[in-house]
Amino acid sequence: MSSRKITILGATGSVGRATLDLVERAPEGAFEVVALTANHQAEELAQLARRTGAQFCAVAAPEAGPALEAALKDTSIRCAAGPDAICEAARLSADWVMAAIVGAAGLPPTLEAVKRGAAVAFANKEALVCAGDLFMRAAREAQARLLPVDSEHNAIFQAFEERQRDSVRRIILTASGGPFRNWSLEDMGQASPSQAVAHPTWSMGAKISVDSATMMNKGLEIIEACHLFGLPQSDVDVLVHPESIVHGLVEYADGGMLAQLGMPDMRTPIAHALAWPDRIETPVERLDLALLSQLSFEAPDPVRFPALGLARSAFDAGRGAPAIFNAANEVAVAAFLNGQIGFLDIAACVSDSLERGEKDGVASVEPSDFETVLEVDRQGRRLATDAVEQRFR
Ligand code: NAD
Ligand code: MG
Repeated sequence: MSSRKITILGATGSVGRATLDLVERAPEGAFEVVALTANHQAEELAQLARRTGAQFCAVAAPEAGPALEAALKDTSIRCAAGPDAICEAARLSADWVMAAIVGAAGLPPTLEAVKRGAAVAFANKEALVCAGDLFMRAAREAQARLLPVDSEHNAIFQAFEERQRDSVRRIILTASGGPFRNWSLEDMGQASPSQAVAHPTWSMGAKISVDSATMMNKGLEIIEACHLFGLPQSDVDVLVHPESIVHGLVEYADGGMLAQLGMPDMRTPIAHALAWPDRIETPVERLDLALLSQLSFEAPDPVRFPALGLARSAFDAGRGAPAIFNAANEVAVAAFLNGQIGFLDIAACVSDSLERGEKDGVASVEPSDFETVLEVDRQGRRLATDAVEQRFR
């Protein structure tokens, strides 16, 4: 593999740090770090920039600027602060950009990278959920290669033969089922935040862990997959697979299925995107199928996990509905983690917000540019805050 110039947006996060772990293990000269960004973690970012010899680094929070500058004053590493500085990082001439900022804040810089035709490794699923059409159009126009990083989408990307697109019958995203896979509806109603964040197989942040418990994460991933692979939601199925070893499958016209397997460690999909179309070594534990001996699969229960149905109807409704779905979920998860609402109220609030959005017209706003996407996101948060207040305990 020839030397690759890379930028990591969200370098201090879980995906960002896993990416840097691989970069630092790679042979000398395999990667050259152009830029690294974070929200407000100035000291940590400065350390990462020194270690990797980055040319530029940026924090989104303006108040973290002085600390970043101070931490780098004895180096030649350029630095800046504020949301525009994150966009500047994305515009620098890296061949490959990791989009690993969490939430809608990742939209503008990720779009900058796409627009200049870079290969963009996509972890920031919220950006695709809120503005999938915009992203896919920009990628087509700039001939930017989007490399899926979400483990399920990376698996599908590996198993999806683009030249046999007409023969693809459906794709299947697997889901661990989360900590409440076998709980009764009654017990789920009493579930505490600490029970919800205790993920059985993956180690992740609190928000995405709650999303796994409600299966909202899989709902977001259905929408993400529709955009990335150009499929209707009816061709995207979900299968509960508690071992989290098979990450995604593609079914073809002849009845054959191609799947990708691996240990539940994000460094495998990240490495695939980092080296694509080549492969690199990772320290990830090897899969021992004989030791595992058994893999199990089951259909998701639509009654205990209404999130999948909500995501499908939001995607079918189109326009502002997916952005409302995402924003309402973020507000409801925060309210659940703060003890304001119960676990089952999360999906109820999202459903309520979608209905309210339809009534007051927000859901029919076409997110044709990023300003509009951000406005729908704001309105979605307002609708969800009202829905949460009605359920306050
Ligand atoms: P994280 O919270 O650990 O890290 C987020 C990063 O974004 C940090 O570097 C943070 O400083 C930065 N950031 C946060 N707010 C920002 C803002 N307003 N402006 C600029 N930068 C900001 O998140 P994560 O778990 O690494 O997830 C990142 C993305 O990848 C998310 O979209 C998530 O859904 C997706 N993802 C994560 C995993 C996982 O295993 N963690 C798996 C699949 C997909
Ligand atoms: Mg995933």
